[in-house]
Amino acid sequence: MSLVVMKFGGTSVEDPAAIGRTAAIVAGRIAQGKQAVVVVSAMSKVTDLLLRAAAAAAAGDRTGALAISARLRCRHRDTACALIKDSADSAALQVLIDQKFDSLDEILRGLAAILELTPRISDLIVSYGERISSRIVAAAFRERQIDSVHVDSRDVIVTDSQFQKAAPIDTIIEKRAQEHLNPHISAGRVPVMGGFIASNEAGITTTLGRGGSDFTGALIGGALSAEAIEIWTDVDGIMTADPRVCPDALRVKIISFEEAAELAYFGAKVLHPATILPAVKKNIPVLVLNSRNATCEGTRIASLAPHCNSPFKSIAVKKKLTIIDVVASRMLMSHGYLKEIFTIFDKHQCPVDMVSTSEVSVSLTVDSNDKLPLIAADLSKLADVKYEGKKALVCMVGEDIRGQSGIAAQVFAAIRHINVRMISQGASEINMSFMIEEEDAEEAVRSLHAAFFQNPDPLVFDVEAKKAAVSF
Ligand code: ASP
Ligand code: MG
Repeated sequence: MSLVVMKFGGTSVEDPAAIGRTAAIVAGRIAQGKQAVVVVSAMSKVTDLLLRAAAAAAAGDRTGALAISARLRCRHRDTACALIKDSADSAALQVLIDQKFDSLDEILRGLAAILELTPRISDLIVSYGERISSRIVAAAFRERQIDSVHVDSRDVIVTDSQFQKAAPIDTIIEKRAQEHLNPHISAGRVPVMGGFIASNEAGITTTLGRGGSDFTGALIGGALSAEAIEIWTDVDGIMTADPRVCPDALRVKIISFEEAAELAYFGAKVLHPATILPAVKKNIPVLVLNSRNATCEGTRIASLAPHCNSPFKSIAVKKKLTIIDVVASRMLMSHGYLKEIFTIFDKHQCPVDMVSTSEVSVSLTVDSNDKLPLIAADLSKLADVKYEGKKALVCMVGEDIRGQSGIAAQVFAAIRHINVRMISQGASEINMSFMIEEEDAEEAVRSLHAAFFQNPDPLVFDVEAKKAAVSF
């Protein structure tokens, strides 16, 4: 039998109605003769609220922190109550939810006394979102005749101890997945697990970083060599552009791993970029699907995408960027200079998005952040430094630009009225990126979309059902 890992995001478990839809989707897969492992996020907005409660407690606002927790307790209790009618199951679940919130409150009180929020405590607090949502979903499945079992992800996803962005240890995960999941799967049960949460080798709770539930789905899919990984969200899939900016945006039916990774990295929010990796390694297709529109076939991310008559698949935009210019004539004819520059970014743990160099200058772009003055101070020991915020990166992705001449001319002709600050095209030749002022971003996307998606290839783009999606 073939195994599918189905990951449902926060909006797919946000309330009783959403959890009901999710159960129906899983039941549908089982009716097709598939085996399933389900990974769920926290109910929507819960992660943000837990972080807010943690921040309030650490700032000494004990009452504020406990008030957030009390509201969350009510929301989870009400959701469970609406979903589970069986009185014994319902009572047991209410007790379990109360126990979890009691221990969360205990931690918040302690934090309000200690007034120091460490990354380790932050992960512990935030883990309650997925720990509780996965319990509710597992119980709701059982109530709907899906033979399901809750599995604590922290027993399966083992990571290093880099709290808030821990790195998974594949070999252990593979072993643990076989140990904790396979017996259930072979017995025909559906394991339900929380995404995002994990533990280190000592069993202390860690998380995979914000948006990390997709990553959990891919890790489980990789460890069990699943047939497919389904990422259920609230949009129809990857679109040619953000439909809020560009009403003509089309759903992309199939895209390659490489293209999707570029898009994810450069701002399209459908997927966590790292999701791609465990799936790529094992050649497992990832499907992005809409739990509010389950019959839509979504976007299939495959190792190879078919050739397509449009050079680009999608246009992504990343805002809130800063351009840093480093200028020094000393760079002329010397080696090791770039290394010195990058060492400084490394020291401040600041990722660089785009780089462009000439003989005497290096331009880099980074997310606008509060470390920039420190980075600039370090860089100014090497060279003259200038930095400027409020920039946007436009990234056009498509494997079919490889080897085609004249594409750059068409791109820049389409946006000739817009001032371009920096350009980059990697040797991989699947993306063309440039920096513009943030305020020009929307206009640029509309002009580029009009220029490149006039005659969309029906094999690759959904030319019929347009505009169903609400966000990119
Ligand atoms: N709940 C986590 C977050 O909001 C993880 C996820 O949903 O992917 O970041
Ligand atoms: Mg997500």
